[in-house]
Amino acid sequence: MKTEQILITDLAQQDEDIARAAARIRAGELVVFPTETVYGLGADATNEAAVRSIYVAKGRPSDNPLIIHIATPEDAERYALTNKTYYKLAEKFMPGPLTVILPKRASVCATVTGGLDTVAVRCPSHPVARALIEKAGVGIAAPSANLSGRPSPTTAAHAKKDLNGRVSMILDGGEAEVGLESTIVALDGEVGTLLRPGAITYDALCCVCREVKVAPAVVERLAENERPLSPGMKYRHYAPRAPLTLLEGEENAVLAYLKSLCTDKSIGILCYDEEIPHLQGGARLFAIGSAHDLQTQAHRLFAVLREVDDHPEITAVYAHLPPREGLGLALYNRSIRAAAHTVKKI
Ligand code: AMP
Ligand code: MG
Repeated sequence: MKTEQILITDLAQQDEDIARAAARIRAGELVVFPTETVYGLGADATNEAAVRSIYVAKGRPSDNPLIIHIATPEDAERYALTNKTYYKLAEKFMPGPLTVILPKRASVCATVTGGLDTVAVRCPSHPVARALIEKAGVGIAAPSANLSGRPSPTTAAHAKKDLNGRVSMILDGGEAEVGLESTIVALDGEVGTLLRPGAITYDALCCVCREVKVAPAVVERLAENERPLSPGMKYRHYAPRAPLTLLEGEENAVLAYLKSLCTDKSIGILCYDEEIPHLQGGARLFAIGSAHDLQTQAHRLFAVLREVDDHPEITAVYAHLPPREGLGLALYNRSIRAAAHTVKKI
């Protein structure tokens, strides 16, 4: 299949481009589109054959469900049984990087939900995503637009690298702003369970839900054969080819340890910007942002993990263990999974 790529620089002038992409969605084809979190691999959520082709294109296990992207929070009614707390969350955080899990309507096919009786809905804020969903007139089922197991794509180039020839079209809307996938919260009445941390933080959810639990898989390694509340949490994810070790300890002590490694050219180090002058010696450095600028770190993490794989000479990778507070929890969650839970205390 030939993959057409369209750069969207001025949405107001590119109605026709969006209309063409929307027509492909309605024709049952796959379209990669930008969102504020990461790039999505979309298909008509009401077309089972189209949804099935998402799993094929990604090499995704069929029990790992997709998120239905909607144009307005009210469109959730078409697919899910909503409640008051959903609308309170919607008022505060939608459109935006929040996915809500609710009981599904009978009409939603099992291919979207991986056989579960719940469904994930999200109303993205990226103008290109919104325009596409609106124009298509249907919910767009989408996971991240990467090959299964690879870091989520934060640019159209990442998505192209993984999916060229496997999708009908790629809409290039620039770098994804957040850089990490959406926060996922499952609702049971007024009680939420955080299944995946993201830019909408635990504390932010607590301002709306009566209580917010945290699914164990967010911070811990699952036992063999344990079934997580969010199926995606059980899969190996984001891991670079060379094994990643996370360093836990006081900042200066970790820097001293990194200094001791930095003469080795076969080592890759994901470091803070301000550490660069102290780590000159041969190791390949990947700056992820300033030490306390978690937003920049989130924005860069997946791109940096992809970059590491472009260096065949690297045989081991080291990075800081992120804090668990605020946006740090999302970075922590993605980092421990990329490291297969390998943490070294300094
Ligand atoms: P991705 O955007 O590629 O991370 O894929 C969507 C994520 O949403 C996966 O991690 C799924 O496990 C999660 N998800 C989708 N539907 C549900 C659901 N009904 N219950 C729990 N998690 C879900
Ligand atoms: Mg994904």
